[in-house]
Amino acid sequence: MMRFEPAKPSLYGMTPEQLTEFLSEGGFPAFRSKQVLEWMYRKRVAGFEDMKNLPNTMREWLSDNSCLSPNELLLSKKASDITEKLLLKGEDGTLIETVLIRYPQRGVGSDTSRKTICVSSQVGCAYGCKFCASGLAGLKRDLTAAEIISQFLHVSRLEAAITETNSDQSVPFDNIVFMGMGEPLANYDNVVSAIRTLNAEWGLHFGARRITISTSGLVPQIRKLADEPIQFRLALSLHGATNAVREKIMPINKRYPLEELIPAVADFSRKKGRMLTLEFILIEDVNDSYEQAHRLAKIARELHAHVNLIPYNRVEGLPWKRPNIQRQQAFSSILKNEQISHTVRKEKGHDIDAACGQLRLRHEN
Ligand code: SAH
Ligand code: SF4
Repeated sequence: MMRFEPAKPSLYGMTPEQLTEFLSEGGFPAFRSKQVLEWMYRKRVAGFEDMKNLPNTMREWLSDNSCLSPNELLLSKKASDITEKLLLKGEDGTLIETVLIRYPQRGVGSDTSRKTICVSSQVGCAYGCKFCASGLAGLKRDLTAAEIISQFLHVSRLEAAITETNSDQSVPFDNIVFMGMGEPLANYDNVVSAIRTLNAEWGLHFGARRITISTSGLVPQIRKLADEPIQFRLALSLHGATNAVREKIMPINKRYPLEELIPAVADFSRKKGRMLTLEFILIEDVNDSYEQAHRLAKIARELHAHVNLIPYNRVEGLPWKRPNIQRQQAFSSILKNEQISHTVRKEKGHDIDAACGQLRLRHEN
């Protein structure tokens, strides 16, 4: 993995205590910390020059010794009416992607939609799932907590500019999913620290129940996560209902096979009292058989989990494809007969799945 040392520390990665201590190095009193936090997370300004109630000398000191967003917005592109992608460039030139998904809501005014932000936790991914674009080039590096938080702030500012709302209010999205590039639990400390900032009253004050971490199944980290005080949700990328099928497409299954993984997520949902989501990408002739559907139903029942069926989104250069619509329906009807709560991601969601690494790959190529 690449080593990365930011030139200047970002204030986004700091707790209020750390910020107060940092400011004291410049000789600034503790009450300034609260003001700075308000500018960062309530008003969500882009630079120190906008922090109007701070003395000039302090703003200068801050920009000499620290930064806010450690990455710059390179481009924001509407993939469709529904998704918009942001490409961010890190200090070391690495590219990070974030996706904003606007699901239109029926029955309400035409301009209202539920907004989900999908963030990345690493540059690339070490886990090499065979169907995934993010893992193709391996892991470049972890994102810092500041780089994760910065993704939310870039989206907030973009949205505030579009809707011309006074930005001094709650963040303009309804759900947060860690389903962009990378394996969030492989960057555990930075992801948990970013979630703390998202959730904290001094931070973005965003409800933990609307935050979902998606994992390919890192058992020790899932067990550790169960003891974190924050009440976020967990989605497990299952994609195979038996070891034989799962390990064909997910190398991590060799390290943490189903007989270890299932009890770990069961403990998680018991401790947290949260319903788990099982993600299951449907790939033709790989995991779309009746037998897989029945086995999946059994696992979902045991875990009281909701199943999210995702027709595979093609990745250039990879051989996999999604089953035809009849086969998708047949798979879904088995779950239905077994009374498993489940959803099938709609065709509209096609480019939503492209959240997973694809924009970056194309751009770098
Ligand atoms: N590393 C984590 C989170 C990022 S991937 C994980 O694997 O869960 C987010 C989701 O997108 C995962 O369920 C992943 O399996 C899925 N995914 C990856 N490539 C995909 C593709 N081409 N089509 C549909 N879903 C895909
Ligand atoms: Fe990594 Fe998740 Fe892609 Fe697997 S599916 S390679 S864990 S990002």
